[in-house]
Amino acid sequence: MLMWTYALGAEVFGEVDSFAFVVGWETARPAPFARAYRDPRFRAFTVCPGCAGSGEARTGPAVRPATPAPKCRGCGGHGRVKRRGIRSV
Ligand SMILES: [Zn+2]
Repeated sequence: MLMWTYALGAEVFGEVDSFAFVVGWETARPAPFARAYRDPRFRAFTVCPGCAGSGEARTGPAVRPATPAPKCRGCGGHGRVKRRGIRSV
């Protein structure tokens, strides 16, 4: 029965599993006849350690509060940076 279930699952999902493998997606099999695909690039970014995600450079007390804060040099003001080891297309 287990072999039959595996063979049927491979038959049903074989083409999609192959596509996922080729494009580098992660494939999970949470249950028989169920698949979950995830592109690892979705976790390609993380919070910038230099500004803790604010995007603003750390400075002393604001001299002129009306002046916009300078951008963080580590992330360019975006508040996030690329993780290492994540493949990009
Ligand atoms: Zn930053």
